[in-house]
Amino acid sequence: SVKQVGGASHAFYTPALAVDQREQAELLQALRHAVQRGELQLVYQPKVDARNLQITAAEALLRWQHPQRGTISPVVFIPLAERHGLINGIGRWVIEEACRQAAQWRQQGMRMRVAVNLSGHQLRQDDLVPHIQACLKRHKIPAERLTVEITESVAMDDTAHTRAAFERLRKAGLHVSIDDFGTGHSSLATLRRLPAAELKIDRAFITDLGHSERARSIVQAVVQMARTLELRVVAEGVETTAQRDVLVGLGCNELQGYLFAKPMSATALALWADTDEPPADGEAGPGFRAS
Ligand code: C2E
Ligand code: MG
Ligand code: MG
Ligand code: MG
Repeated sequence: SVKQVGGASHAFYTPALAVDQREQAELLQALRHAVQRGELQLVYQPKVDARNLQITAAEALLRWQHPQRGTISPVVFIPLAERHGLINGIGRWVIEEACRQAAQWRQQGMRMRVAVNLSGHQLRQDDLVPHIQACLKRHKIPAERLTVEITESVAMDDTAHTRAAFERLRKAGLHVSIDDFGTGHSSLATLRRLPAAELKIDRAFITDLGHSERARSIVQAVVQMARTLELRVVAEGVETTAQRDVLVGLGCNELQGYLFAKPMSATALALWADTDEPPADGEAGPGFRAS
């Protein structure tokens, strides 16, 4: 971080900043090899049906196990990967790995959807859809069982390119979700044209639900609009029973958040999904669903 050193006017060129830049460069260098070195990992967070709290999907979220620094958040390294042309390679690995995991879960009798997050850069790759289709085929996953989450700001980029990419995803039969909905500036016109199946309301609106009438009205409006457009609505970042109750009352279809489960390993998720009733003594076991 930039520190003011002795009131010097050249404070922007402090050693602290130089170190940050060197660290960035080192991180980038390490990231170039992270896929081949097997340092990337997917954790999974369930989405649940708002009516019965049964699992509907598992969203894959990337983690980087850096040999020296430990776990690094995607918020740190995805933007770095996007800036330096590494996101496509990483994104291809994510799709392959998520399909492989989906196949393993199916063998264990779990048929929930698996969701992957796509970067805008990936949408611009001509081989994105062929790669997804090859992975689905290799692992025998029906296309509609794979959700691709695309951030609203990327989805609303109303260029011919983005629209064509969406059209190809839809033609391939994938389940398209507009992530972080409410943070971009969707026009109803664009939204209507997009062949999406799901709107995922951004956590910022969910956070305020318990105490803000305004947040409630916004979520209500989104749910109504989604109904008109025949889209499913998912709420992300649900942390409290108060938020859950409002969302259920408003007719939100699916819920996701720490109240139900944090992102976890594939093995832990299989155990979690398997235990669909809280233990009789009411204690919070691994599969306990807050009620
Ligand atoms: P996202 O797709 O909107 O994912 C939701 C983020 O919120 C995740 O953070 C998740 O761990 C966190 N979260 C879930 N429930 C709660 C909750 O109840 N409370 C709070 N405070 N947070 C919650 P994470 O895993 O750090 O991922 C951050 C972002 O990084 C994701 O946002 C997504 O945009 C991006 N990302 C993650 N994995 C990938 C990937 O494989 N590819 C791409 N392109 N982006 C990814
Ligand atoms: Mg997402
Ligand atoms: Mg999101
Ligand atoms: Mg988000």
